[in-house]
Amino acid sequence: VKTYRRHYCERQHRHYRTTAVCLWPRAIWITGEGPYATLAWCRVLTVALHQDIDTAREAQAFIDKYACGGQCYRRHEIIHLDFRLPLRGA
Ligand SMILES: [Zn+2]
Ligand SMILES: [Zn+2]
Repeated sequence: VKTYRRHYCERQHRHYRTTAVCLWPRAIWITGEGPYATLAWCRVLTVALHQDIDTAREAQAFIDKYACGGQCYRRHEIIHLDFRLPLRGA
């Protein structure tokens, strides 16, 4: 699990989802809400957010086993967004 402790940006984010959109603009979809993000860097980048680490680990175990989509390269990781919201330009 990687940890991001800061997010440098001019905007104020009130939700982890909008922070995730800002962090990973290439993601074709971002679902859920919470500080634990499971990222799938496969054919396309997809992000799912979770409220706790256990749920994130379960989600990652699931896509590791069954693949995240059409062309899965098993490039999956969990990132903990370790900062409080709303952000104020950090
Ligand atoms: Zn931002
Ligand atoms: Zn995958």
